[in-house]
Amino acid sequence: MKPILQVQGLVAGYGNIEAVHGVSLDVAAGECVALIGPNGAGKSTLLKAICGLVEVTGGDIIFDGHPLRAMPGSAIAALGVSMCPEGRQVFGEMSVLENLRMGAYSRRHDPAWKHDLEEMLELFPRLRERTAQKAGTLSGGEQEMLAIARALMARPRLCLLDEPSLGLAPKIVDEVERCLMAIKQRGVTMLLVEQSVSMALRVADRGYVLETGHVALSGSSASLRDNPEISNAYLGH
Ligand code: ATP
Repeated sequence: MKPILQVQGLVAGYGNIEAVHGVSLDVAAGECVALIGPNGAGKSTLLKAICGLVEVTGGDIIFDGHPLRAMPGSAIAALGVSMCPEGRQVFGEMSVLENLRMGAYSRRHDPAWKHDLEEMLELFPRLRERTAQKAGTLSGGEQEMLAIARALMARPRLCLLDEPSLGLAPKIVDEVERCLMAIKQRGVTMLLVEQSVSMALRVADRGYVLETGHVALSGSSASLRDNPEISNAYLGH
């Protein structure tokens, strides 16, 4: 299948600090791909490069035939690339409902946003109980669900998820996993950065292992799970 996202020899970083040194990967439409690897490997930088938040100094990012390199973040978002950032970053002073409406801002004149809102509240019942509550007063897990639901309100063609389970209690991580599975079943294309490698490889179809800004290994989730290097380094057995 032709990939909807192709990253080719990507070099990216922060001023004179290069964090990603020539990474290539692809994601097919409807696929969920995990990016795993140790802290500082460049996973977040890669996601930020795709959505135009960090400087790209080499290589190409092609999304649905459009070269994203040098495109402003707003234009990348308008093509249907949605980011669910690390640390949630919900609008704390706004209500849950207002946050969700903000997610659909780019399609605010599309009456179907109300249908999507209903769908999100069905998918995330904890949010339905709290639509009027200020987002900043939600628990960490609820904020994560809001961040994911807000990203989905844009009806993204590619959803970038940065560490959705970070800092959450194991029970809540299970809930986030169920939500990610439900989203995947709806056919949303996802690139998932996740420090919980076991969870990432259960949700994703394929994965790439990033080490010090390079792709060290890639393959189907099953092959990565069975790889002794991966299980020793990340799966605790
Ligand atoms: P983590 O799980 O710790 O977030 P990561 O794989 O996502 O790890 P990145 O956050 O992409 O890694 O970081 C890659 C490298 O870029 C690291 O060496 C990091 O110190 C550096 N880096 C990240 N953000 C910045 C920044 N704003 N300014 C300068 N260097 C940065």
